[in-house]
Amino acid sequence: MSIAFKVYVHCANCQKNYGSLLEPPDAEDSPQDIDELLESNFLREQKFMCRECESPIGIITDIKELRNDQLVAVRRLEPCS
Ligand SMILES: [Zn+2]
Repeated sequence: MSIAFKVYVHCANCQKNYGSLLEPPDAEDSPQDIDELLESNFLREQKFMCRECESPIGIITDIKELRNDQLVAVRRLEPCS
């Protein structure tokens, strides 16, 4: 089974939103759902970059979990303030 996450990022610089598809490696400690993804080093190691302005500073707003290309979960993240 292949698992992937579509992560939506809001650019802090130009205020545009963009999506990034993450495919964790097939490893024992790879995240298997959105909760695990959020706590994972895998996510922290990801480098997001805005396609419009190339700013690396972004805020994750939404995450979708895909299994075998089927959408199985959606999470909207509250911005921490
Ligand atoms: Zn931007």
